[in-house]
Amino acid sequence: MAEKTASEMLKDKLFINKKNGFTNCDDEKWEQVTDFCEGYKIFLANGKTEREAARAALAIAEAAGFKPYERGKRYRTGEKYYVNNRGKTVAFVVVGKRSVEKGVKITAAHIDSPRIDLKPNPLYEDIELALFKTHYYGGIKKYQWTAMPLALHGVFAKKDGSVVEVNIGEDENDPCFVVTDLLPHLAQEQSKRTLAEGIKGEELNILIGSRPFKDDKGSELVKLNIMSILNEKYGVTEEDFLSAELECVPAVKPRDIGFDRSLIGSYGHDDRVCAYPALMAITEVEMPQNTAIAILTDKEEIGSDGNTGLNSDFLRFIIRDIAESQGVDYTEALRNSKCLSADVNAGIDPTFKDVMEPKNAAKLNYGAVITKYTGARGKSGTSDASAEYVAEIRAMLDNAGILWQTGELGKVDLGGGGTVAMYIANMGVDVVDLGVPVLSMHAPFEVVSKLDVYETYRTMYEFCK
Ligand code: MN
Ligand code: MN
Repeated sequence: MAEKTASEMLKDKLFINKKNGFTNCDDEKWEQVTDFCEGYKIFLANGKTEREAARAALAIAEAAGFKPYERGKRYRTGEKYYVNNRGKTVAFVVVGKRSVEKGVKITAAHIDSPRIDLKPNPLYEDIELALFKTHYYGGIKKYQWTAMPLALHGVFAKKDGSVVEVNIGEDENDPCFVVTDLLPHLAQEQSKRTLAEGIKGEELNILIGSRPFKDDKGSELVKLNIMSILNEKYGVTEEDFLSAELECVPAVKPRDIGFDRSLIGSYGHDDRVCAYPALMAITEVEMPQNTAIAILTDKEEIGSDGNTGLNSDFLRFIIRDIAESQGVDYTEALRNSKCLSADVNAGIDPTFKDVMEPKNAAKLNYGAVITKYTGARGKSGTSDASAEYVAEIRAMLDNAGILWQTGELGKVDLGGGGTVAMYIANMGVDVVDLGVPVLSMHAPFEVVSKLDVYETYRTMYEFCK
């Protein structure tokens, strides 16, 4: 190799010099990456809703020795427990060597994903076909959800207090469901609509059957037949839909993408692609310096409100409980705490480069993305991490040899978004967003890089160890 010139050497020293992660990924490392991602793919397939992801996470944590939280118990260093909030938000705690007054280390990711929920009164018949009315959840491009197989997940909660689980459409032998779309031949008027209106909210109706009840006379016999099947299978009547949470998700499995298998395509990467690394990291932490908390939360996609969202007191109470059990000041604990808000950012897409400002856009295979601020317009709706805290995280990443980059969510004034970061920052905790860059974010089938997933896991471990 030719010797470097003076200017080249000075550039190495003075300029940002981020490299594609594959320039430094030998066979041994790639094997670790792919092994980790095989576990991630199983987690994705088992957890397609917040309830299922919470349950899958609890199973992994229990296998790693985490026990349910016991109020009033004085936990010793290294002890591991979890707090389960209504089966939708779960927090995992490993008690650290230092008093919680010195602060806790929080990793926070969300396990809800954009989807199509059934309305409280969903079932109807039209033109002798049975359908469900729906109400979408989170930010979706509605046209993407038509003409593809959908599965139905969720629960009926009945008046007698029992809860019946629904999970239909994932198994190859299961039936699945579909939102129909208009044939192109008759779509002249539809094609003049804007993309946002191409399919409207009230057009996301899900086809669920066509066969009338026996050969009886009367109206709504297809609906009756569906209700009869549901009654037989789940013991429910139409009124039980009023107290149900039924969620339609793409009936697709996580798959490797590309001839080189370097990418993963799946529904729900946002944000299980950060939840799984945070979970795996905390299950592997032994005797951390500071008490480590990984929280996998619900409701991020609709603004983090509600008693299972991170804008609730759930996380505060967990920290307060620890402080009380150690007889130390809770507010002091919060002030000294630090958090990685583990959420995805947009990866730059070669087909849609224009929405990104290239110097500040995340690229696939460049590692975990630090996002100093999210929000919209003039940084509205974000916590904007402090320079000091970002410096601390940079140093941690570089010292551990972790592949990382920075990103902004698109060009200024083009749009925007948010994460849970600001809700945790509002508690007085230092927070910055860090996560995996995604292509086709919020689509039924999103894409991430395996290398980025693995580096995000390494970050989570380094942060809470
Ligand atoms: Mn997210
Ligand atoms: Mn999202």
